[in-house]
Amino acid sequence: MPLHNCDLVIVGGGVAGSTAALYGRRFGLDLLVLERAAPGGQTASASCIENYPGFPEGITGPELAQNVTDQALKVGVEYVNAEVMGLSHTGSGKWIVHTDQGDVETIAFIVATGASPRHLNVPGERELAGRGVSYCATCDGFFFRGQTVAVVGGGNTAVDEAIYLSEICAKVYLIHRRDEFRCERFLQDRLGSRPNIDLVLDSTVVEIRGEEQVENVRVRNVKSGEDRVFDLQGVFIAIGNVARTDWLGDYVEREDGFIPTNENMETKAPGIFAAGDVRKTLVRQITTAVGNATTAAFFAYHYVQGFRGG
Ligand SMILES: Cc1cc2nc3c(=O)[nH]c(=O)nc-3n(C[C@H](O)[C@H](O)[C@H](O)COP(=O)(O)OP(=O)(O)OC[C@H]3O[C@@H](n4cnc5c(N)ncnc54)[C@H](O)[C@@H]3O)c2cc1C
Repeated sequence: MPLHNCDLVIVGGGVAGSTAALYGRRFGLDLLVLERAAPGGQTASASCIENYPGFPEGITGPELAQNVTDQALKVGVEYVNAEVMGLSHTGSGKWIVHTDQGDVETIAFIVATGASPRHLNVPGERELAGRGVSYCATCDGFFFRGQTVAVVGGGNTAVDEAIYLSEICAKVYLIHRRDEFRCERFLQDRLGSRPNIDLVLDSTVVEIRGEEQVENVRVRNVKSGEDRVFDLQGVFIAIGNVARTDWLGDYVEREDGFIPTNENMETKAPGIFAAGDVRKTLVRQITTAVGNATTAAFFAYHYVQGFRGG
C-alpha cells in the first residue's frame, strides 16, 4: 500500500467502523477503513439478529453485516485489507498509523477494533458454538425461552445474565469455579431471590456435549475432583472479553485493553476516537456500536475542520 494521506482513518470494518465511515463520507471526509479480515466483524458470525430495530422478522448476521458494508461502499468508502500494528505522531499534529501493508498519515482516527469473548477452551465449545454455546445472553437468550441453560462465570456479567435468563428460561445453572462471586452486592441479593437458579460452585465446565445441538455439560468440582453431568440446551459463557489494543502503545489510555471515552467518543489523545465494543462500556451490542460510531464520526469531522482552521 503506498503512503496514504487522509483526513480520517477508521481501524476496523465491523458495524461500528462501517457506520463511522458511512457518516464520515457523507460529511465529505477523505477516509480509509483498515480491516485485517473481511469487513463485517462479529456481526457476520451471528446466526440470527432479532434485536436490531427495523427487522421485525430478524435478519441473519452475515446479511446485516453485508448490508452495512454495501451501504458504506455505495457512498465511496474504501476498505483496505491491512492489519494495524502501531502508531506514531508526525510532530505537526497528525498521526501515522502503521500497518502490515504500509503507513497511513491522518488528521484523526477512530478505533473500532471490537472485542472478542474469552473462551473456556474445552472440548465441544468451538464445535457447538452457535448451536447452544453462546457468549451473549442479551443476543441469544430469547432462543432458549422455557429451556434449561447454564451460565459460566462469576463476575457482574455472568450473574446479570443468569438473572436475565431466569426470567425467560425454565432453569439456570450458574457455574463458577470459586465459592463466592465477584459481582456487586445488589446482584448477589437478586440472585438469592431466584428459585430457578441453581448455583454450582467450586466447579468448572470440562466438556460440552451434543450431536447437532448442546445436550449436556460435564462439570468438575475443583475441590473433590468429582464429575457431574447436567442436561441442558444452552451454555452461556460469560468469563470476560478481550480487546487487543496493544498497538496504541502509550498514546491512548486503556483499562484492561478497553478504551474509555467521553460522551463524544473522544479519548484523551487529540484526534483519536473510539466506537463500538472496544470502548469501556457495559453494553456491547450492534445498536450501541452504530450509535457510538455516528457520534465518533460527527466529532471527528469537527476535529478535522478545526485542524484545518475551518
Ligand atoms: C455470535 C455472536 C452473536 C451476536 N449476536 C448479537 C445480537 O443478536 N445482537 C446484537 O446487538 N449484538 C450481537 N452480537 C454482538 C455484536 O456483534 C457486537 O456488539 C458488534 O459486532 C460490535 O461491533 P464492532 O464494530 O464494535 O466490533 P467488531 O464486530 O468486533 O469489529 C471489529 C473489526 O475490527 C477488526 N480489527 C481488529 N483489530 C484490528 C487491527 N489491529 N487492524 C485491522 N482491523 C482490526 C476485526 O477484524 C473486526 O472486523 C453478537 C456477537 C457474536 C460474536
